[in-house]
Amino acid sequence: MTSSSSSSVSPALSVLAPYGWDEAWADEFARYDSEGLLPGRVVRVDRGQCDVVTPVGTVRADTEFVVPRDPMKVVCTGDWAAVDPEGSDPQYVRALLPRRTAFVRSTSSKRSEGQILAANVDHAIIAVSLAVELDLGRVERFLALAWESGAQPVVVLTKADLVPDPVGLSYLVEDVESTAPGVPVLTVSAVRGEGLDVLVALVSGGTSVLLGQSGAGKSTLANALLGDDVMDVRATRDADGKGRHTTTTRNLLSLPGGGVLIDTPGLRGVGLWDAGTGVGQVFAEIEELSGRCRFQDCAHESEPGCAVLAALDSGELSVRRLESYRKLMRENQWIVAKTDARVRAELRREWKRKGSDGKAAMEAKRGRW
Ligand code: GDP
Ligand code: ZN
Repeated sequence: MTSSSSSSVSPALSVLAPYGWDEAWADEFARYDSEGLLPGRVVRVDRGQCDVVTPVGTVRADTEFVVPRDPMKVVCTGDWAAVDPEGSDPQYVRALLPRRTAFVRSTSSKRSEGQILAANVDHAIIAVSLAVELDLGRVERFLALAWESGAQPVVVLTKADLVPDPVGLSYLVEDVESTAPGVPVLTVSAVRGEGLDVLVALVSGGTSVLLGQSGAGKSTLANALLGDDVMDVRATRDADGKGRHTTTTRNLLSLPGGGVLIDTPGLRGVGLWDAGTGVGQVFAEIEELSGRCRFQDCAHESEPGCAVLAALDSGELSVRRLESYRKLMRENQWIVAKTDARVRAELRREWKRKGSDGKAAMEAKRGRW
């Protein structure tokens, strides 16, 4: 292949830009470009193959050459790939570009492996319904998942039309804002079409996913972002026009107002996640206080010189916030334990010592959120 990198990356830019292609991806891809491979973004994965949007259309590609032993490195929706243009249907993915961010779920099976749900997500939009009582603990949990992935969380309070009192609404927003430092908090009403423009502008600069409880309004937001022709978008005919797989459901969609939305079934039904560092980021002030406790391994229960308990006493830290932190840490410990026999054995010993053998485990397992 004699083409210089600029001659083939530039066309790629115009076709792939709506899918999030930028200068940095072009730089990452340069070495594959000289090998004559095509850049593309994975829009769906199933049965060891994937659909990849490339400058020559959507191609079906086999992942046989990039299947690693590590399940976290399996090709997933949102990945940027280098596809071999030789061969017909399927073609072959030859390499994956290093991920910027990744949503990973710990599997519920005994095989203690993570499952990768979405790659290269910039914004995690957490939908929270104003139709039901605000559950800040739940918001914190989604924030932890978001931070853990590397994406920037955004909280969208949905169904604002159901809170007609503007003062009441501003209190709710303040509650969420104080729970989510460093996180934009928007209010929208899909019914009234209010606040959507802010969201559209926000997601236009990258790849987004929608998280949140069932009924929180995620589908409604997705439809609003995708516009009226959502069904057409979802049933995109393959670019080769041969109709071999006549309609394809994509899990990654380019938005008419700019930006990309990833919506996979796995992301919708999030269960237990490994969100250790994420939890620390959500509760940054508690982690910071912990650093000032007299004992390095302080459990903040009754230890002398505990800065966390002192903050509780002074009212600087709320009991609700500390309990939410503990709950998330406990759940996370359980997930880590599933994947690490040594930690598991340690936890067992500790539960025994506390005379509540298995109780904490059951609690974490039931995942009462
Ligand atoms: P999902 O389960 O998170 O995808 O939630 P849906 O998008 O399906 O919404 C759940 C319910 O909330 C549906 O009955 C929607 O019609 C309703 N809903 C969504 N957005 C709004 C809104 O802005 N205002 C009101 N009043 N209802 C809404
Ligand atoms: Zn302490």
